[in-house]
Amino acid sequence: MDVVVVGGGLMGTAATFFLARRGLRVTLIERGRVGAGATVASFGNIRRSGRFLPQMPLAHRAREIWGEAERMLGRDVEFRATGHLRLVFDEDGLTAMRRFIADAHPWGFHPEEIGPNEIHARFPGLGPDAIGASFAREDGCGNPRLIAPAFAAAAQKLGATIVEECEVLDIALTEAGFAVRTARGEHHAERLLNTAGAWGARLAARFDEPVPIEARGPQMGVTEPLPHRIHPVVGMWAAPGRRDGYLRQVERGNIVFGGGAERSFVDLDDGYAKADPARLPHQLRSLLRLCPALADVAVIRTWSGCEGYVADGLPVMGPSATTPGLFHAFGFCGHGFQLGPGVGQVMSDLIATGRTDEPLEPFAIGRFARA
Ligand SMILES: Cc1cc2nc3c(=O)[nH]c(=O)nc-3n(C[C@H](O)[C@H](O)[C@H](O)COP(=O)(O)OP(=O)(O)OC[C@H]3O[C@@H](n4cnc5c(N)ncnc54)[C@H](O)[C@@H]3O)c2cc1C
Repeated sequence: MDVVVVGGGLMGTAATFFLARRGLRVTLIERGRVGAGATVASFGNIRRSGRFLPQMPLAHRAREIWGEAERMLGRDVEFRATGHLRLVFDEDGLTAMRRFIADAHPWGFHPEEIGPNEIHARFPGLGPDAIGASFAREDGCGNPRLIAPAFAAAAQKLGATIVEECEVLDIALTEAGFAVRTARGEHHAERLLNTAGAWGARLAARFDEPVPIEARGPQMGVTEPLPHRIHPVVGMWAAPGRRDGYLRQVERGNIVFGGGAERSFVDLDDGYAKADPARLPHQLRSLLRLCPALADVAVIRTWSGCEGYVADGLPVMGPSATTPGLFHAFGFCGHGFQLGPGVGQVMSDLIATGRTDEPLEPFAIGRFARA
Protein backbone atom coordinates (compact mmCIF):
# COMPACT_ATOMS: atom_id res chain seq x y z
CA MET A 1 0.00 0.00 0.00
CA ASP A 2 1.24 3.50 -0.81
CA VAL A 3 -0.83 5.51 1.68
CA VAL A 4 -3.00 4.82 4.72
CA VAL A 5 -5.37 7.65 5.66
CA VAL A 6 -6.58 7.67 9.29
CA GLY A 7 -9.97 9.35 9.74
CA GLY A 8 -12.81 9.42 7.23
CA GLY A 9 -14.32 12.88 7.63
CA LEU A 10 -14.34 15.40 4.80
CA MET A 11 -10.55 15.83 4.92
CA GLY A 12 -9.78 12.11 4.85
CA THR A 13 -12.33 11.17 2.19
CA ALA A 14 -11.36 14.09 -0.08
CA ALA A 15 -7.65 13.25 0.26
CA THR A 16 -8.38 9.57 -0.45
CA PHE A 17 -10.27 10.53 -3.61
CA PHE A 18 -7.50 12.80 -4.93
CA LEU A 19 -4.78 10.28 -4.03
CA ALA A 20 -6.66 7.51 -5.85
CA ARG A 21 -7.20 9.82 -8.83
CA ARG A 22 -3.43 10.21 -9.01
CA GLY A 23 -3.14 6.43 -9.23
CA LEU A 24 -1.82 5.80 -5.72
CA ARG A 25 -2.90 2.71 -3.78
CA VAL A 26 -4.72 4.11 -0.76
CA THR A 27 -6.65 2.72 2.20
CA LEU A 28 -8.86 4.93 4.37
CA ILE A 29 -9.57 3.70 7.89
CA GLU A 30 -12.50 5.20 9.81
CA ARG A 31 -13.55 4.31 13.35
CA GLY A 32 -17.26 4.89 12.64
CA ARG A 33 -18.92 5.63 9.32
CA VAL A 34 -17.38 8.02 6.80
CA GLY A 35 -18.48 11.60 7.31
CA ALA A 36 -20.19 10.92 10.65
CA GLY A 37 -17.79 13.08 12.76
CA ALA A 38 -17.64 16.88 12.73
CA THR A 39 -18.45 16.83 9.02
CA VAL A 40 -22.05 15.66 9.26
CA ALA A 41 -22.72 18.12 12.11
CA SER A 42 -21.61 21.10 10.06
CA PHE A 43 -23.87 24.04 9.26
CA GLY A 44 -22.77 23.66 5.66
CA ASN A 45 -21.49 27.19 5.11
CA ILE A 46 -19.18 27.58 2.13
CA ARG A 47 -17.94 31.06 2.89
CA ARG A 48 -14.71 32.94 2.44
CA SER A 49 -15.73 36.16 4.26
CA GLY A 50 -13.94 36.55 7.57
CA ARG A 51 -11.27 33.95 6.84
CA PHE A 52 -7.65 34.16 7.97
CA LEU A 53 -6.25 35.79 4.84
CA PRO A 54 -3.21 33.55 4.24
CA GLN A 55 -5.76 30.73 3.98
CA MET A 56 -7.43 32.43 1.00
CA PRO A 57 -5.53 30.60 -1.79
CA LEU A 58 -6.63 27.29 -0.26
CA ALA A 59 -10.19 28.61 0.16
CA HIS A 60 -10.29 29.68 -3.51
CA ARG A 61 -9.09 26.26 -4.59
CA ALA A 62 -11.72 24.62 -2.38
CA ARG A 63 -14.46 26.85 -3.79
CA GLU A 64 -13.49 25.85 -7.31
CA ILE A 65 -13.73 22.16 -6.42
CA TRP A 66 -17.11 22.66 -4.74
CA GLY A 67 -18.30 24.11 -8.05
CA GLU A 68 -17.14 20.98 -9.89
CA ALA A 69 -18.15 18.48 -7.21
CA GLU A 70 -21.30 17.14 -8.86
CA ARG A 71 -19.56 16.42 -12.16
CA MET A 72 -16.40 15.12 -10.49
CA LEU A 73 -18.11 12.84 -7.95
CA GLY A 74 -21.04 11.79 -10.09
CA ARG A 75 -23.70 12.91 -7.63
CA ASP A 76 -25.34 16.10 -6.41
CA VAL A 77 -23.85 17.10 -3.04
CA GLU A 78 -26.22 20.07 -2.96
CA PHE A 79 -23.57 22.70 -3.42
CA ARG A 80 -25.44 25.90 -4.21
CA ALA A 81 -23.79 29.26 -4.93
CA THR A 82 -26.57 31.13 -3.17
CA GLY A 83 -24.34 34.01 -2.11
CA HIS A 84 -23.31 34.83 1.45
CA LEU A 85 -24.92 37.88 3.03
CA ARG A 86 -23.20 39.05 6.20
CA LEU A 87 -25.09 41.75 8.12
CA VAL A 88 -23.67 44.46 10.38
CA PHE A 89 -25.52 45.80 13.40
CA ASP A 90 -23.03 48.16 15.05
CA GLU A 91 -20.05 50.40 14.37
CA ASP A 92 -17.51 47.83 15.59
CA GLY A 93 -18.93 45.30 13.17
CA LEU A 94 -18.84 47.88 10.37
CA THR A 95 -15.16 48.55 11.07
CA ALA A 96 -14.38 44.83 11.10
CA MET A 97 -16.24 44.31 7.82
CA ARG A 98 -14.60 47.23 6.02
CA ARG A 99 -11.14 46.22 7.19
CA PHE A 100 -11.71 42.68 5.94
CA ILE A 101 -13.03 43.81 2.54
CA ALA A 102 -9.99 46.07 2.03
CA ASP A 103 -7.50 43.46 3.25
CA ALA A 104 -9.06 40.62 1.23
CA HIS A 105 -8.77 42.54 -2.03
CA PRO A 106 -5.08 41.68 -2.73
CA TRP A 107 -5.94 38.04 -1.95
CA GLY A 108 -8.39 37.97 -4.85
CA PHE A 109 -11.60 38.03 -2.81
CA HIS A 110 -14.05 40.88 -3.46
CA PRO A 111 -17.28 40.85 -1.47
CA GLU A 112 -19.39 43.95 -2.14
CA GLU A 113 -20.43 46.33 0.64
CA ILE A 114 -24.11 47.21 0.62
CA GLY A 115 -26.03 49.80 2.63
CA PRO A 116 -29.32 49.47 4.55
CA ASN A 117 -31.60 50.57 1.69
CA GLU A 118 -30.07 48.06 -0.65
CA ILE A 119 -30.31 45.29 1.96
CA HIS A 120 -34.06 45.94 2.27
CA ALA A 121 -34.53 46.14 -1.49
CA ARG A 122 -32.53 43.03 -2.37
CA PHE A 123 -33.15 40.90 0.72
CA PRO A 124 -36.55 41.92 2.13
CA GLY A 125 -37.18 40.74 5.68
CA LEU A 126 -33.53 40.14 6.51
CA GLY A 127 -31.77 42.30 9.12
CA PRO A 128 -34.23 45.22 9.32
CA ASP A 129 -31.94 46.90 11.89
CA ALA A 130 -28.72 46.27 9.96
CA ILE A 131 -26.59 49.31 9.18
CA GLY A 132 -24.72 47.58 6.36
CA ALA A 133 -23.66 44.21 5.00
CA SER A 134 -21.21 42.42 2.79
CA PHE A 135 -22.37 40.14 0.00
CA ALA A 136 -20.13 37.47 -1.54
CA ARG A 137 -22.13 36.26 -4.51
CA GLU A 138 -20.08 33.17 -5.34
CA ASP A 139 -20.14 31.66 -1.86
CA GLY A 140 -22.99 29.50 -0.59
CA CYS A 141 -23.61 26.15 1.03
CA GLY A 142 -23.40 22.40 0.62
CA ASN A 143 -25.03 19.40 2.25
CA PRO A 144 -22.88 18.09 5.14
CA ARG A 145 -24.56 14.67 5.00
CA LEU A 146 -23.64 14.06 1.39
CA ILE A 147 -20.13 15.30 0.74
CA ALA A 148 -17.89 12.81 2.59
CA PRO A 149 -19.82 9.69 1.48
CA ALA A 150 -19.69 11.08 -2.09
CA PHE A 151 -15.90 11.47 -1.94
CA ALA A 152 -15.53 8.00 -0.39
CA ALA A 153 -17.72 6.33 -3.02
CA ALA A 154 -15.90 8.08 -5.87
CA ALA A 155 -12.53 7.10 -4.35
CA GLN A 156 -13.69 3.49 -4.13
CA LYS A 157 -14.59 3.52 -7.83
CA LEU A 158 -11.02 4.63 -8.52
CA GLY A 159 -9.68 1.65 -6.58
CA ALA A 160 -9.27 3.00 -3.04
CA THR A 161 -10.13 0.76 -0.10
CA ILE A 162 -12.52 2.25 2.46
CA VAL A 163 -12.56 0.50 5.84
CA GLU A 164 -15.34 1.61 8.19
CA GLU A 165 -16.19 0.68 11.79
CA CYS A 166 -12.50 0.05 12.44
CA GLU A 167 -10.47 2.02 14.96
CA VAL A 168 -6.75 2.64 14.50
CA LEU A 169 -5.23 1.51 17.80
CA ASP A 170 -1.52 1.89 17.26
CA ILE A 171 1.00 2.94 14.64
CA ALA A 172 4.57 1.67 14.52
CA LEU A 173 7.44 2.74 12.28
CA THR A 174 8.86 0.01 10.06
CA GLU A 175 11.70 -0.04 7.54
CA ALA A 176 9.18 0.40 4.74
CA GLY A 177 7.06 3.08 6.45
CA PHE A 178 4.21 2.46 8.87
CA ALA A 179 2.43 -0.52 10.41
CA VAL A 180 -1.09 0.53 11.37
CA ARG A 181 -2.73 -1.75 13.93
CA THR A 182 -6.51 -1.64 13.95
CA ALA A 183 -9.33 -3.40 15.72
CA ARG A 184 -9.50 -5.63 12.62
CA GLY A 185 -5.96 -6.42 11.53
CA GLU A 186 -2.84 -4.58 10.42
CA HIS A 187 -2.19 -2.37 7.39
CA HIS A 188 1.22 -1.40 6.02
CA ALA A 189 2.00 1.69 3.99
CA GLU A 190 4.93 3.85 2.94
CA ARG A 191 3.09 7.04 3.87
CA LEU A 192 0.48 7.94 6.45
CA LEU A 193 -2.02 10.81 6.45
CA ASN A 194 -3.52 11.87 9.77
CA THR A 195 -7.00 13.30 9.18
CA ALA A 196 -8.37 12.25 12.57
CA GLY A 197 -10.15 15.57 13.21
CA ALA A 198 -10.37 16.50 16.88
CA TRP A 199 -8.35 13.35 17.65
CA GLY A 200 -5.56 14.34 15.25
CA ALA A 201 -3.37 15.72 18.04
CA ARG A 202 -3.48 12.39 19.88
CA LEU A 203 -2.11 10.71 16.79
CA ALA A 204 0.51 13.43 16.24
CA ALA A 205 1.66 13.09 19.85
CA ARG A 206 2.76 9.50 19.12
CA PHE A 207 5.37 11.06 16.83
CA ASP A 208 6.53 13.66 19.38
CA GLU A 209 4.57 16.45 17.76
CA PRO A 210 2.66 18.37 20.42
CA VAL A 211 -0.39 20.36 19.33
CA PRO A 212 -2.44 22.34 21.89
CA ILE A 213 -6.00 21.52 20.91
CA GLU A 214 -9.37 21.56 22.66
CA ALA A 215 -12.42 19.63 21.56
CA ARG A 216 -15.52 21.81 21.42
CA GLY A 217 -19.05 21.50 20.14
CA PRO A 218 -20.70 24.39 18.33
CA GLN A 219 -24.48 24.13 18.61
CA MET A 220 -26.87 24.02 15.64
CA GLY A 221 -30.64 23.95 15.34
CA VAL A 222 -33.28 23.56 12.68
CA THR A 223 -36.86 24.82 12.43
CA GLU A 224 -39.95 23.24 10.96
CA PRO A 225 -40.18 23.64 7.16
CA LEU A 226 -41.48 26.99 5.91
CA PRO A 227 -42.24 28.36 2.46
CA HIS A 228 -38.94 28.94 0.68
CA ARG A 229 -38.07 32.65 0.93
CA ILE A 230 -34.41 32.98 1.98
CA HIS A 231 -31.94 32.39 -0.80
CA PRO A 232 -28.48 33.37 0.55
CA VAL A 233 -26.64 32.07 3.57
CA VAL A 234 -27.05 34.84 6.16
CA GLY A 235 -24.50 35.71 8.83
CA MET A 236 -23.37 38.59 10.97
CA TRP A 237 -20.19 40.64 11.34
CA ALA A 238 -19.63 40.76 15.07
CA ALA A 239 -16.68 42.49 16.72
CA PRO A 240 -14.16 40.00 18.22
CA GLY A 241 -15.54 38.40 21.36
CA ARG A 242 -19.17 39.27 20.55
CA ARG A 243 -21.71 36.60 19.75
CA ASP A 244 -22.52 36.07 16.10
CA GLY A 245 -25.30 34.11 14.45
CA TYR A 246 -26.07 32.60 11.08
CA LEU A 247 -28.84 30.84 9.19
CA ARG A 248 -29.75 29.33 5.87
CA GLN A 249 -32.94 27.94 4.46
CA VAL A 250 -32.59 24.50 2.92
CA GLU A 251 -34.52 23.67 -0.24
CA ARG A 252 -37.11 21.71 1.74
CA GLY A 253 -37.88 24.91 3.67
CA ASN A 254 -36.33 24.34 7.11
CA ILE A 255 -34.13 27.08 8.56
CA VAL A 256 -30.81 25.72 9.84
CA PHE A 257 -29.10 28.04 12.30
CA GLY A 258 -26.02 28.28 14.48
CA GLY A 259 -23.78 30.67 16.40
CA GLY A 260 -25.06 33.00 19.11
CA ALA A 261 -23.78 30.81 21.96
CA GLU A 262 -20.56 29.49 23.46
CA ARG A 263 -19.27 26.16 22.15
CA SER A 264 -19.61 23.37 24.70
CA PHE A 265 -16.74 21.30 26.11
CA VAL A 266 -16.36 17.80 24.62
CA ASP A 267 -14.55 14.88 26.26
CA LEU A 268 -12.43 13.27 23.53
CA ASP A 269 -12.64 9.86 25.17
CA ASP A 270 -16.25 9.45 24.09
CA GLY A 271 -16.33 12.36 21.60
CA TYR A 272 -19.98 13.01 22.38
CA ALA A 273 -20.90 16.64 21.69
CA LYS A 274 -24.21 17.35 23.35
CA ALA A 275 -26.54 20.19 22.40
CA ASP A 276 -27.42 22.22 25.50
CA PRO A 277 -31.04 23.44 25.71
CA ALA A 278 -29.91 26.35 27.95
CA ARG A 279 -27.97 27.82 24.99
CA LEU A 280 -30.92 27.82 22.63
CA PRO A 281 -32.53 31.12 23.83
CA HIS A 282 -29.24 32.98 23.09
CA GLN A 283 -29.16 31.47 19.64
CA LEU A 284 -32.77 32.39 18.97
CA ARG A 285 -32.09 36.02 19.91
CA SER A 286 -29.37 36.15 17.23
CA LEU A 287 -31.63 34.37 14.76
CA LEU A 288 -34.40 36.94 15.23
CA ARG A 289 -31.99 39.77 14.62
CA LEU A 290 -31.20 38.23 11.26
CA CYS A 291 -34.83 37.46 10.42
CA PRO A 292 -37.57 38.71 12.78
CA ALA A 293 -40.27 36.82 10.84
CA LEU A 294 -39.02 33.61 12.47
CA ALA A 295 -40.45 34.64 15.87
CA ASP A 296 -43.30 32.10 15.89
CA VAL A 297 -41.54 29.20 14.25
CA ALA A 298 -40.98 25.85 15.99
CA VAL A 299 -37.44 24.52 16.46
CA ILE A 300 -37.65 20.80 15.76
CA ARG A 301 -34.09 19.63 16.51
CA THR A 302 -30.79 20.79 17.95
CA TRP A 303 -27.40 19.08 17.67
CA SER A 304 -23.69 19.57 18.05
CA GLY A 305 -20.49 17.92 16.79
CA CYS A 306 -16.98 17.36 18.08
CA GLU A 307 -14.46 19.68 16.40
CA GLY A 308 -10.80 20.35 17.29
CA TYR A 309 -9.87 23.97 18.08
CA VAL A 310 -6.12 24.61 17.98
CA ALA A 311 -4.79 27.23 20.42
CA ASP A 312 -3.94 29.76 17.68
CA GLY A 313 -7.19 29.20 15.79
CA LEU A 314 -5.45 27.74 12.71
CA PRO A 315 -5.45 24.15 11.46
CA VAL A 316 -2.48 21.82 11.23
CA MET A 317 -1.62 20.96 7.63
CA GLY A 318 1.51 19.67 5.99
CA PRO A 319 4.31 17.15 6.46
CA SER A 320 5.34 15.95 9.90
CA ALA A 321 8.30 17.78 11.41
CA THR A 322 9.68 14.59 12.98
CA THR A 323 8.77 11.63 10.79
CA PRO A 324 9.38 11.25 7.05
CA GLY A 325 6.33 9.89 5.23
CA LEU A 326 3.87 11.19 7.83
CA PHE A 327 1.44 14.02 6.94
CA HIS A 328 -1.20 15.86 8.97
CA ALA A 329 -4.44 17.68 8.15
CA PHE A 330 -6.55 18.20 11.27
CA GLY A 331 -7.81 20.81 13.76
CA PHE A 332 -9.89 22.90 11.38
CA CYS A 333 -11.37 25.03 14.18
CA GLY A 334 -14.93 25.21 12.86
CA HIS A 335 -13.95 26.39 9.37
CA GLY A 336 -13.16 23.14 7.63
CA PHE A 337 -16.32 22.42 5.67
CA GLN A 338 -15.57 25.08 3.08
CA LEU A 339 -11.89 24.13 2.92
CA GLY A 340 -12.26 20.34 2.86
CA PRO A 341 -12.11 19.60 -0.88
CA GLY A 342 -9.11 21.93 -1.24
CA VAL A 343 -7.39 20.32 1.74
CA GLY A 344 -7.85 16.89 0.17
CA GLN A 345 -6.36 18.01 -3.12
CA VAL A 346 -3.43 19.88 -1.57
CA MET A 347 -2.58 16.97 0.72
CA SER A 348 -2.65 14.58 -2.25
CA ASP A 349 -0.28 16.92 -4.17
CA LEU A 350 2.04 17.02 -1.20
CA ILE A 351 1.98 13.27 -0.55
CA ALA A 352 2.37 12.31 -4.20
CA THR A 353 4.94 14.89 -5.31
CA GLY A 354 6.44 16.36 -2.14
CA ARG A 355 5.24 19.84 -3.04
CA THR A 356 2.18 22.08 -3.40
CA ASP A 357 1.64 25.58 -4.73
CA GLU A 358 -0.45 26.60 -1.71
CA PRO A 359 1.31 28.46 1.11
CA LEU A 360 1.13 26.08 4.07
CA GLU A 361 3.79 27.64 6.36
CA PRO A 362 1.25 29.21 8.79
CA PHE A 363 -0.24 25.74 9.35
CA ALA A 364 3.00 23.82 9.90
CA ILE A 365 2.90 21.47 12.90
CA GLY A 366 6.41 22.57 13.87
CA ARG A 367 5.07 25.94 15.05
CA PHE A 368 4.16 24.42 18.42
CA ALA A 369 7.48 22.69 19.03
CA ARG A 370 9.19 26.05 18.27
CA ALA A 371 6.85 27.81 20.69
C1 LIG B 1 -21.56 21.87 14.58
C2 LIG B 1 -20.51 22.24 13.56
C3 LIG B 1 -20.81 23.18 12.57
C4 LIG B 1 -19.84 23.51 11.61
N1 LIG B 1 -20.17 24.39 10.60
C5 LIG B 1 -19.24 24.68 9.64
C6 LIG B 1 -19.57 25.53 8.55
O1 LIG B 1 -20.70 25.97 8.40
N2 LIG B 1 -18.60 25.82 7.63
C7 LIG B 1 -17.34 25.33 7.74
O2 LIG B 1 -16.48 25.64 6.89
N3 LIG B 1 -17.02 24.47 8.75
C8 LIG B 1 -17.93 24.14 9.69
N4 LIG B 1 -17.62 23.29 10.71
C9 LIG B 1 -16.30 22.70 10.72
C10 LIG B 1 -16.23 21.49 9.78
O3 LIG B 1 -17.40 20.73 9.86
C11 LIG B 1 -15.01 20.68 10.15
O4 LIG B 1 -13.87 21.52 10.19
C12 LIG B 1 -14.73 19.56 9.17
O5 LIG B 1 -15.88 18.81 8.90
C13 LIG B 1 -13.64 18.70 9.77
O6 LIG B 1 -13.48 17.56 8.96
P1 LIG B 1 -12.43 16.46 9.41
O7 LIG B 1 -12.41 15.44 8.35
O8 LIG B 1 -11.15 17.13 9.80
O9 LIG B 1 -13.01 15.91 10.80
P2 LIG B 1 -14.16 14.83 11.10
O10 LIG B 1 -15.32 14.98 10.20
O11 LIG B 1 -14.42 14.89 12.57
O12 LIG B 1 -13.45 13.46 10.73
C14 LIG B 1 -12.43 12.91 11.51
C15 LIG B 1 -12.69 11.42 11.58
O13 LIG B 1 -11.57 10.75 12.16
C16 LIG B 1 -12.08 9.59 12.78
N5 LIG B 1 -11.06 9.08 13.71
C17 LIG B 1 -10.50 9.71 14.76
N6 LIG B 1 -9.62 8.92 15.39
C18 LIG B 1 -9.63 7.73 14.72
C19 LIG B 1 -8.94 6.50 14.89
N7 LIG B 1 -8.06 6.32 15.88
N8 LIG B 1 -9.19 5.49 14.03
C20 LIG B 1 -10.06 5.66 13.00
N9 LIG B 1 -10.74 6.81 12.80
C21 LIG B 1 -10.53 7.82 13.64
C22 LIG B 1 -13.33 10.08 13.45
O14 LIG B 1 -14.22 9.00 13.73
C23 LIG B 1 -13.90 11.07 12.44
O15 LIG B 1 -14.89 10.49 11.60
C24 LIG B 1 -18.56 22.93 11.68
C25 LIG B 1 -18.27 22.01 12.69
C26 LIG B 1 -19.23 21.65 13.61
C27 LIG B 1 -18.90 20.63 14.66
